[in-house]
Amino acid sequence: MSDRKRAIPYVTAASAQSCHGSKGDGTKCRARPVAGSSYCFFHHPGKEAERRAAQQAGGQKNKMVVLPSSAPDAKLQNADDAVKLLAETINQVRRGEIDPKVANAVGYLGGLLLKAMLATETESRIATLEAIVKRHPAMSESHFEEDQERFVSG
Ligand SMILES: [Zn+2]
Repeated sequence: MSDRKRAIPYVTAASAQSCHGSKGDGTKCRARPVAGSSYCFFHHPGKEAERRAAQQAGGQKNKMVVLPSSAPDAKLQNADDAVKLLAETINQVRRGEIDPKVANAVGYLGGLLLKAMLATETESRIATLEAIVKRHPAMSESHFEEDQERFVSG
């Protein structure tokens, strides 16, 4: 912990030489000056162009690449649709058309949706099978057990 503190330049004796600029609220800037200057990067009079370029680069970097708001809703009626969306999203992120963060969210939500759809499908299949078994007494559980007993006792 004490080693870490020593490594931070602001708490060393060098902090006596802070930037000669002042902040928006009029207080003195306490940032470290750039090498060979008495101003920090943000207050250095000769760094205006560099500052603007850095801000623009930062702005572009932080801007998320997403589909336009006019993009139609993805069709998500069944598991096939969900699989199609996941495949499409994989290709969009590979082409840089969509931010990986958005693709991650689509992947996560798409996975949940797919899981829910498959669970619903399984439930409805079981319900269908149960209805069929009820309609045909010969296939009911009790007969099945009798058949098994007969088979085991020979
Ligand atoms: Zn400054």
